[in-house]
Amino acid sequence: MWRKGWIGSFAVGIVLVGMLGVRVWMGQAGADEVETFLPEQIPAAASYRADVQVEMKTHTVRGTVAVRFAPQDDKAYFHLYPNAFQAKADLSGENWEQVLGKQREPGNIQITEVRVDGKRVPVLLKGELETLLEVPLAGKSAAQQTEVELRFALQVPYNNGRLSYNDHAMWLGNWLPILAVKGDGGWRLDPYAAIGDPFYSEMANYRLRVQLEEGYQLASSGIESIAVVTQTRPQRQTIYELDAWNVRDFALVVMDDTYRQLTGKVGDVTVRTWSQEGDDPASVDHLHQVAMKSLNYYGEQFGRYPYQEYDVVKTGGFFGGMEYPSIVFIQDEYFGRTDPVADAIVAHETAHQWFYALVGNDEVREAWMDESLTDYATMAFLYSSDPNRARGYIQLRLSQSKAAERYAAQGLNAWQSLLQFPTWKSYTDLVYGRGAAMWWTLRESWGEKQLHHLLRQYVHDNQYAQADGQEIIKLLSQAAGADATPFIDYWLRLKLDERGAAEAWVEKGKHE
Ligand SMILES: [Zn+2]
Repeated sequence: MWRKGWIGSFAVGIVLVGMLGVRVWMGQAGADEVETFLPEQIPAAASYRADVQVEMKTHTVRGTVAVRFAPQDDKAYFHLYPNAFQAKADLSGENWEQVLGKQREPGNIQITEVRVDGKRVPVLLKGELETLLEVPLAGKSAAQQTEVELRFALQVPYNNGRLSYNDHAMWLGNWLPILAVKGDGGWRLDPYAAIGDPFYSEMANYRLRVQLEEGYQLASSGIESIAVVTQTRPQRQTIYELDAWNVRDFALVVMDDTYRQLTGKVGDVTVRTWSQEGDDPASVDHLHQVAMKSLNYYGEQFGRYPYQEYDVVKTGGFFGGMEYPSIVFIQDEYFGRTDPVADAIVAHETAHQWFYALVGNDEVREAWMDESLTDYATMAFLYSSDPNRARGYIQLRLSQSKAAERYAAQGLNAWQSLLQFPTWKSYTDLVYGRGAAMWWTLRESWGEKQLHHLLRQYVHDNQYAQADGQEIIKLLSQAAGADATPFIDYWLRLKLDERGAAEAWVEKGKHE
């Protein structure tokens, strides 16, 4: 995500080649040959098959989702994020107000049937707001794939968030029931939070059959340009069959016929920017160029973008931009602007395709991982395209980082759970400002080449998986030949008296 509000005044050596005999891409990341695997080369932990009907008049989505996976426990959990917006939820207070706005209608997801390998089991809702579904899997083992099938009815809420609608579109972020992650420390069942992007998920393959009424079209995490699209008669419905391999989530936007697409190619990748008639063509074209150029830049710097399509879609929302695999939502007002903020938002969401989408992390407990790397990448892209235009943005992050030091006295820091940030401002100052400034400062000492070498390594080693903060400390320590803990302690944990040790570590790790 990319939050406005605080803007202020700145105007891969492939090992599978022999095994699979599939196409291989040789990257061009400077002197290093970097490769990312293609999504269809990697076995996914789960596969989702969904069949849904979207009704725009009532803002509902009904259907089924069947998930095949190897159980890791005698039960599994699904997140039912839409239930965070049900009528009984207490979404008061300034933090929620920033997300939802003042005008709201509740929404929810009802699970009407659960089957495990075809057998009906009780619907067990958990959590204060029923944002979790527990599925009993007694007698199932990891040795064999199990299929859990859910029948659901989603009432899309109306608010300023990631799952909402307006007169021309309905944007579905975090809508489909999704398996919770079971990590070393147990199940990750954190509730929806007002602040940040409170999500965490593993890679999966998705196949969705989506039925739309006449006059609507869609963009999604799947590959629309090769989707099978059928028209039914006499109902005049459009059925899309969408595939997405190895993605962490499946988002989609349903749009009416006021929407137009600009398309372009970055290598083999189709980039589509979706705006509406009446939007300023120069602004739209500019955003489209930023999307294409930044996708190309990150591909060169951090490893190839491995998916076939990238959609940038105009939606409503509070968020500036919101990232999902292969698709990002961009708040409508930025389709009428060509200022550096609009550039930064599109570039930021595009960078999340590497930091969040390709390399995942626990966005609840370690939000700094994807946000700080994404925002650093944004700064690097903006700087590479126009150092003067980038200056304001970089200065903003550096000054937020400095200001963030006062949070130390309140016991706050950048490496804490979303639930521990008292305000949006503290979250953005610490996670975006402090986090991105940490990487920028390292770049200023080590140079772009050395830092990007390390980030390529990070992407290469963790692609299609989840990394944690310890993984970054390990990589930094290896790169420097010295334990990076003081550096991280100073920058992220706000142990300000570690400053000298942090600076000494940076010096030590510098390759001349
Ligand atoms: Zn972000």
